[in-house]
Amino acid sequence: MAAGSAASCGGTGCGSHCSSSSSTAAEDATAESLGRLSVSRECGKCGGGVGAVAVAGGVGLCGECFRAHLFGKFKLAVTSNAMVRPTDSVLLAFSGGPASRVALQFIHEMRSKAIESWDASNSQALPVFGVAVAFVDESVLCSKPKQEIDMAIEDIKSIGFSVGIKAMHITPLEDVFSMASKDGEGRLREAVDMIDDDTGREDFLQCLRMLALQKIALENGYTKIMLGSCASAIACHVLSATVKGQGYSLPADVQYVDTRWEIPVVIPLRDCLARELSLLCELDSLKTQQHLDRPSNGINSLVASFVERLREENPSREHTIVRTAQKLKPFSFNKFSADGYHDFLPSRLRPKFQNVDNDESTFSGILCLICGSPFNESELRNLESTKHKAQKKTDLYTAHCCQSCCFQILPSGGNLYEHFFSLLPEFWTGRVDTVSVSHSLPRDQIEEYLLEDNDDS
Ligand SMILES: [Zn+2]
Ligand SMILES: [Zn+2]
Repeated sequence: MAAGSAASCGGTGCGSHCSSSSSTAAEDATAESLGRLSVSRECGKCGGGVGAVAVAGGVGLCGECFRAHLFGKFKLAVTSNAMVRPTDSVLLAFSGGPASRVALQFIHEMRSKAIESWDASNSQALPVFGVAVAFVDESVLCSKPKQEIDMAIEDIKSIGFSVGIKAMHITPLEDVFSMASKDGEGRLREAVDMIDDDTGREDFLQCLRMLALQKIALENGYTKIMLGSCASAIACHVLSATVKGQGYSLPADVQYVDTRWEIPVVIPLRDCLARELSLLCELDSLKTQQHLDRPSNGINSLVASFVERLREENPSREHTIVRTAQKLKPFSFNKFSADGYHDFLPSRLRPKFQNVDNDESTFSGILCLICGSPFNESELRNLESTKHKAQKKTDLYTAHCCQSCCFQILPSGGNLYEHFFSLLPEFWTGRVDTVSVSHSLPRDQIEEYLLEDNDDS
């Protein structure tokens, strides 16, 4: 993708002005040696040699240069993809782990710099974007003692306030269920218990987390959601999605920008490795919180340990996996396309977005009810035929779930479907209800899509 194309120093991080990011051959070299982050005496960039030094691309970097290198990657991803505009109000999804901790630090820094130049400018024409933090509290599902949970949440709050964040949203996961009924906690537990598959349960919680973030953003007027997903996490997602047969929708999840949700989602740390981010937290004494991490089972954790082993063997593997997935055609919703959206960008960057490229997958407009995956051709055909013959609403709900969710998340035994769907957040099922009342719009879209597809073949 575009972020790496301007490499100017081989990605070894020559300071905050450096436009280089990890890319191509230079990136492989960098990534490879970053696998052996270690302490050395002299900085290959500035010649200084105090404190801890990370070895990158065979060149030792002092803490200062290493930091500038990572901040450069973050800033380049944000600016060159128009992730944050001056009028935006950004909601950062904060787990307390090293990746989102670094994202918090960096976006706060970008904002501080924007405020400085706003103060300095005479015109003060452009506003400065806002930043808030959201923490989705899943403690209802973990067996930790209440005291420990309270301490972890206090830590999260103190981290936010230490950075100067004024708006902190600490929201229980079960809130996504309680729009109509009061017993969100009961519904959450019951729905999770109905899912037999470990992996399915984890993926279901992941979908609820996204819904929780969307809900916080919608209710409080945030215009972007920023995630701390880093290259290592995305590499794991690429492999597990492949194993689960989610190849069609995978390209949607590995891009910097994802506008398929009500509130667009951006991932500026996509080019940074997990251990780089942990090292930065260590060097800068950035406080993190991992008490509430829950043990993972199923395919997701298998893949994570597999990626870990791949990395020990060859440290550039994570980058290689992510880069390979990025070669898949993205969807039209993987960029901002509203008229006038890019007006705030420096003029040199604008042409990049104005080019009409055909390098996109055709998108039918239909997303999975649960996970939000774009529907592939066979899922669309199934939906279409179900609509003609569906007797019960449950049939319609089922047809609105992608194959992977049907297989992993829906309870085994179709007779349980009705109860399961009745537990799901209305935000999900309500969309299908609306669709089935106003029959015409989505059907037209599906027909159009299928026709288009026939033309191609
Ligand atoms: Zn240095
Ligand atoms: Zn799905």
